[in-house]
Amino acid sequence: GEPLAVSARVAPLGSRLVLLLVEDLTEARRIEAVRRDFVANVSHELKTPVGALSLLSEAVMDAADDPEAVNRFAGRMQVEATRLTSLVQEIIDLSRVQNDDPLEDAEPVAVDDLVAEAIDRCRHPANAKQITMATAGAPDLYVWGHRGQLAAALGNLVENAVNYSPARTRVGIAGRRVTAPGGGGTSQAGGSGGLIEISVTDQGMGISQADRERIFERFYRVDPARSRATGGTGLGLSIVKHVAASHGGEVTVWSAEGQGSTFTLRLPEAASARPSEPRSGDHR
Ligand code: ADP
Repeated sequence: GEPLAVSARVAPLGSRLVLLLVEDLTEARRIEAVRRDFVANVSHELKTPVGALSLLSEAVMDAADDPEAVNRFAGRMQVEATRLTSLVQEIIDLSRVQNDDPLEDAEPVAVDDLVAEAIDRCRHPANAKQITMATAGAPDLYVWGHRGQLAAALGNLVENAVNYSPARTRVGIAGRRVTAPGGGGTSQAGGSGGLIEISVTDQGMGISQADRERIFERFYRVDPARSRATGGTGLGLSIVKHVAASHGGEVTVWSAEGQGSTFTLRLPEAASARPSEPRSGDHR
């Protein structure tokens, strides 16, 4: 594209400043392209349920004197409306984690609390599929971060483990400390410099190598039909990735097709289990 042409023209000048400027422009264009793609994807994803709702409402009107058909169409309208609601909610969640700096509201968050909350959130689908939730205790482990964002991230991982596993399998959630305090991690205010790992392991369908490289992209789904059937939007893992990165951590995936997957969140450990001193201007 154009930045390359510019770069070829200025290269003979040998000016590092000009090259930096060109790199900046290229980065700005890349961000703009990502934003444009996102808007296009959102429009596309919204059109599906909105289109279905419009067709179904016509069908309801045409079937006015067939109460049984009206009921059937109304039921499907409810499914589409629910899908639309969760899509809009996830778009709001994504924009929130992208715009809010989580470390402004950071506090020590107990890993056990995050795990309990994530399990609670999946109770219904897990019970329906008779999936066993196994936790390996993580007492006294505290991560440093934004409680709501961390809960959303772990909740998404556990929800996926349940959604993409067959009935009567096991989902394991384990927390552990991977580096001793002061052991090399990048320390932030409130962090100990140590790292905590929370892993979610399922015995589900697994994810191929090619898909593992793409599942953290917004709206990417291995099997869109299956994802839709479980209420998936394709945004969950991009939210997880964003939350991990903005906390100075990361999320990784290991998987063997047909055997299962393990998603691992690595997050900064809190220096102490007590919340830090309230800052002036805090109202609690
Ligand atoms: P979705 O809302 O579709 O679940 P995500 O961003 O959470 O979106 O996940 C993206 C895709 O990654 C899913 O559609 C699914 O194909 C795949 N995936 C995520 N978690 C798992 C898992 N635990 N096992 C198998 N596939 C998974």
